[in-house]
Amino acid sequence: MRLVLLGPPGSGKGTQAVRLAQAFGLQHVATGDILRDEVARQTDLGIKAKAFMDAGQLVPDQLVSDMIAGRLQADFILDGYPRSLPQAESLTHLLKQKGWTLDAALNLQVPEDEIVARLSGRLVCLQCKTVFPAGTESPCQKCGGKLGKRADDNANVIRERLNVYHNTTKPLENYYQKLGLLREVPAVGSPDEIFKRLCATLKRA
Ligand code: AMP
Repeated sequence: MRLVLLGPPGSGKGTQAVRLAQAFGLQHVATGDILRDEVARQTDLGIKAKAFMDAGQLVPDQLVSDMIAGRLQADFILDGYPRSLPQAESLTHLLKQKGWTLDAALNLQVPEDEIVARLSGRLVCLQCKTVFPAGTESPCQKCGGKLGKRADDNANVIRERLNVYHNTTKPLENYYQKLGLLREVPAVGSPDEIFKRLCATLKRA
């Protein structure tokens, strides 16, 4: 199965992508995590990407699309890619070259005021990257690592990331709608409830 997971920052893409990957045996490709790792290791890509990420802007399309093209296995869930029309077109082209088709583009829908509240308080395990809601105490319940804030989860950068989402990423809904692949999934409620909704949507897909 091949899936794209769409939705604004803070909509729970990372949490749900991990669950879907486990449930369906998919490669989980999270571009934000890969880029943060490249930045931490100070690779050429990481050095180029850092300033864009710190400002809440998108890393240039070509860099990210090349990064994806080199990694994709036959069954995957893409979390955080594509994020612009040129990226969506690159993905369509790549899939065509490989003779693969997408099964669905799942769109997580969350009201804007809830997104801002989630992003400004959320914590992430600095070791295993699991995301926790505001107020969760260290250590991480999964791996015992320390919890902290993501560098780009501060008010100014959050505002810029939401602008980028509205101007550049949201048009992808229309792109995948036209391809007959868009599946809208309300992403409010507990992670378990949202996961059940995603699974039910995939059964119908
Ligand atoms: P995320 O963890 O998905 O919220 O991504 C964190 C940051 O990584 C974004 O704000 C961008 O700067 C960068 N990034 C992640 N995915 C992409 C992408 N598909 N295209 C461009 N930049 C990306």
